[in-house]
Amino acid sequence: MQDANCIFCRIVRGEIPSRKVHEDGEVLAFHDINPLAPVHFLIIPKAHIASMMDLGEQHQDMFGRIMVLAGKLAREQGAGDGFRLIVNTGRVGRQEVDHVHLHIIGGGESLGSMLPRRRS
Ligand code: 5GP
Ligand code: ZN
Repeated sequence: MQDANCIFCRIVRGEIPSRKVHEDGEVLAFHDINPLAPVHFLIIPKAHIASMMDLGEQHQDMFGRIMVLAGKLAREQGAGDGFRLIVNTGRVGRQEVDHVHLHIIGGGESLGSMLPRRRS
């Protein structure tokens, strides 16, 4: 359920402070410590699940709630004009914190293209 050394589990336990956006029994949302736009917060399940690839059927309801919360919280935080939802996953996705999290990024100018095009 929790991982002793995981940064985000430590935030859930209150061992590391965070600026909370939302909290309920199974979900926490908090501002990213290194924001990439005027609005940049993270939504995580309180339970330690390493990545999007570790989600199972038992997580469907909880993760569905997270997806519904994303738009509601984005609007409340000032990203009513649109946002980008990013879930970096694994090595190729360059995931740095191994506790599944959604980035909600917006609130300013248009974010530009989704990914820089690679030269072939
Ligand atoms: P990833 O690259 O794994 O998708 O993103 C991890 C995110 O977590 C980064 O945007 C980083 O700024 C954020 N982050 C890392 N450590 C902390 C922390 O201690 N507190 C908060 N609020 N955000 C963190
Ligand atoms: Zn964790």
